Amino acid sequence: MTQRTEIGQVGEFGLIQIIKEKFSNRNSETVLGIGDDAAVLKSADNIVHSTELYIEGIHFDLAYSPLPHLGYKLISAALSDLAAMNALPKQVTLGLGLSNRFSVESVESFYEGVQQACEEYKVDLVGGDVTASPTGLLVSVNVVGTVDEEHLVKRSGAKVNDVICVTGDLGAAFMGLQALEREKQVFLANPGMQPELEGKSYVIMRQLKPSARFDIIHELRSLGVVPTSMIDCSDGLSSEIIHLCNASGVGARIFEKNIPIDDETYLVATEFNFSPLTAALNGGEDYELVFTVSQKDYEKISKLADVAAVGFITSDPSEKILVLKSEQVVPLSAPGFGQ
Ligand code: ADP
Ligand code: MG
Repeated sequence: MTQRTEIGQVGEFGLIQIIKEKFSNRNSETVLGIGDDAAVLKSADNIVHSTELYIEGIHFDLAYSPLPHLGYKLISAALSDLAAMNALPKQVTLGLGLSNRFSVESVESFYEGVQQACEEYKVDLVGGDVTASPTGLLVSVNVVGTVDEEHLVKRSGAKVNDVICVTGDLGAAFMGLQALEREKQVFLANPGMQPELEGKSYVIMRQLKPSARFDIIHELRSLGVVPTSMIDCSDGLSSEIIHLCNASGVGARIFEKNIPIDDETYLVATEFNFSPLTAALNGGEDYELVFTVSQKDYEKISKLADVAAVGFITSDPSEKILVLKSEQVVPLSAPGFGQ
């Protein structure tokens, strides 16, 4: 049996000490990290800040989310909002509410994923809080990044004729969630059953361990391209494009044939009798970037393998449309379209 140490045995300070020992600071913008009453940060650039609160049973299910993956995912998901501002990530803080179901070992397992994410994104964990929760796990993630005035990108800068771009592929995380939910129900009904997850590893990993696309942020910078507007794709392409259009006072026309969807997403969607297009438009948690660039800048980035042009910005703010492969035109807002 694996060892189980109750949090009460080491106490709150003991637990913070265990966490602290796993982390060291790497950014010059971090003046003081874990250990004092507050962290001290500095920057000559704009400081970009965002908060996310995650609650067990609402945002994640520990029945199928391994704790290290969860730690990694929550940091990635929170940092993705900084990528969407074209900012560079620097620090995170992490508040935990823990019920007595959680042992010291399970908290350490969660922090393994946090550590991996901090290494990958080169951010410092500079503080947090630990408190008791009556039930379940609560995780609050604060993220801090920096961006100079020239690189700051908001939702509101999209201009008529700009090209609408999407990174990676869409809909996979949603299909991964469907596969995991189905296996959970099968397991609850018959705990002897082996999970049927073969051929679904890509969509499942997209659900359990997504990445924030700072690789694209760096590529855009090295090509000297600043998007005119940007948002991260956490709620599905439809809703993100509507946000960009509303903030910018413009319309959009996107094309079904250009929406990037992985082959495995198609296969799993077919198995579940679900439209892959709906998964891309109205699924969520892909954490890809949706951005607009001028036509001139699009020429510079058209060779990037992981960026797809899905459409363009139009002048009429009331027109946000999807052109289907059949050339039929449907409004983007239609929820659950294609099901
Ligand atoms: P205070 O009582 O002043 O809130 P704490 O004892 O809660 O102080 O925290 C002491 C230090 O440990 C602070 O620097 C705090 O940011 C850090 N810390 C507390 N909880 C965590 C955590 N879950 N992860 C990382 N750092 C933490
Ligand atoms: Mg505290």
